[in-house]
Amino acid sequence: MNVLSNVYPTAALREADARHHWHPFTDTAALNTEGARVIVSADGVWLTDSDGNRILDGMAGLWCTNIGHGCEEIAEAVYAQMKELGYYNTFFKTTHPPVIKLSELLSEITPPHINRVFFCSSGSEANDTIVRMVRTYWQIKGKPEKQTIIARHNGYHGSTVAGASLGGMGGMHAQGGLPIPGIHHIAQPYWYGEGGDLSPEEFGLWAARELERAIDALGEDKVAAFIAEPIQGAGGVIVPPDSYWPEVKRICSEREILFIADEVICGFGRLGTWFGSDYYGLKPDLMPIAKGLSSGYLPIGGVLMADHVSETLEQGGEFFHGYTYSGHPVCCAAAIANINILRSEGIVERVASDTGPYLQQKWLALGEHPLVGEARMVGMVGALELAPAKPDRTKRFEPVGDVGTLCRDISFKNGLVMRAVRDSMIVSPPLVITREEIDDFIERVTKTLDATLSELTKAGLMG
Ligand SMILES: *Cc1c(COP(=O)(O)O)cnc(C)c1O
Repeated sequence: MNVLSNVYPTAALREADARHHWHPFTDTAALNTEGARVIVSADGVWLTDSDGNRILDGMAGLWCTNIGHGCEEIAEAVYAQMKELGYYNTFFKTTHPPVIKLSELLSEITPPHINRVFFCSSGSEANDTIVRMVRTYWQIKGKPEKQTIIARHNGYHGSTVAGASLGGMGGMHAQGGLPIPGIHHIAQPYWYGEGGDLSPEEFGLWAARELERAIDALGEDKVAAFIAEPIQGAGGVIVPPDSYWPEVKRICSEREILFIADEVICGFGRLGTWFGSDYYGLKPDLMPIAKGLSSGYLPIGGVLMADHVSETLEQGGEFFHGYTYSGHPVCCAAAIANINILRSEGIVERVASDTGPYLQQKWLALGEHPLVGEARMVGMVGALELAPAKPDRTKRFEPVGDVGTLCRDISFKNGLVMRAVRDSMIVSPPLVITREEIDDFIERVTKTLDATLSELTKAGLMG
C-alpha cells in the first residue's frame, strides 16, 4: 500500500494476481484479460476497493458475513485466543475450552433433538463427513446395503469430491469424473423455471413425490439418506412452493431413511430463524453448517447430529475420520463471539420481525419492474428472475446467463454486489443491514434494472 496517498497500485496488484493466483469457480483466461476487482477493506455492509470505491455488499461476502464486516469483538476474541492457545488438536483424548463452549452453545440454539457436533473447516468437509457418517450408521444398524444418498439436481453441497457429487451441478460433474457411485439426483422444486402448466402447489407436491418415487425405484433397503438445502442458495435462491416441505416430511417419516438438511446458507439467521429447518418445521437427522457459523471471519464448519445418530455411531467403536483442524480453538473463538453477538443484539429476531419484512416488501415490489419475471425472498435471501417477455415463463434470454452477467456488471458499477445465477439476480446481504441501508440498496437495484433494461431494449432483446 502506498502510505502517502492511501491509494493501492491497482494495476500492479491485478497483474500479480493474474500471474500467480488461481481463482475458484473462474474462467482464469477470461478473468486475466479483464483483471480482478481488488477489495482492500470492509465495514458493516460496505466494501472498499483499491480505487477507493465504496460498494454495498449485497451478498454478505459469499452468503456468510451475517453480522457484517469489521466486527471488533470477533477480532479481539480471536487475538485473545491466539495468545492463550493458538492451536491444539482434539484427536487423542484431548479437548479444550473453546471447542467445549462452542459445542454447548450450538446445542442451545439447535432444535432439542440435536446435541452433538463434529467440527471441520468448511461446508464441503461437513458434507464429505456426512457421506461417511450415514453409510456407517446403516452398517452399524446391520443394514450395510443402505448406501445410496438421494440429492437434487441444481443443489449445492460443496466442491470436494463428495460435496460436488451430492450437489447437482452438471458443469461440476463433467470435470473429474463425478458423481461418485451411490448418489442419485431427483428434480428440484423450482416452479418458476420447471413448473410448466402446474400451479406452484401442484408442482411442489409433484417434486416432493419424486423422492418417494426414487425410494421405490432404488429400493428402500438401498437408500441411506436424502440431502437438501431448505432453500437452495447457489442454485439460484430456489424457494420451494408451500406444499413441498410438508410432503417431503410425510415421506421421510414413512420411510426408513435419514434426512440431511444442508444449513450452510440457511443457518445462523438467514431466514429470520436460527436454522432453515426451524423456518420450515423440519426435523433433520443431520445438519451440515459453515458460512454463518463464524460469519466468515475464520473457516469453520460442522456436522450437527440428532441424538439417535450420535448414539448409533457410538456403538460402532472408533469412527476413523477427522481433520487436523477439527475444532480449531481460534476458529471456535470466532464462532462463539459471532453467536454471542447474534444473540445479544437480537439480530435473528430483527430479521424476522423488523428489517427482514421491510426488505422483503421492497424487494417483492421489484417484481413489478418490466424486466423482472418473478421476485422472491425469505428472511434476507432473495432472487429476481430476469425475463424478456413477462409474464410468459417459457421465454428465456439466449444464451442463458449473458443477461445475468450484464446486469451483475452494471450492478458493480452502481456500487452494489449482486450475484448472477443463470439470468436471475441473487442477494443475501449482511443481517445487520439497517432500514436506511435497505433504502439505498433498493435504489441501487432499481437503477441497475433500469440500465440493464435500456441496454437490452437497445439491442432488441426484449419482448
Ligand atoms: C457454500 C455451501 C457449501 C460448501 O461450503 P464450503 O465452505 O464452500 O465448502 C455446502 N452447502 C451449501 C448449501 C453451501 O451453500
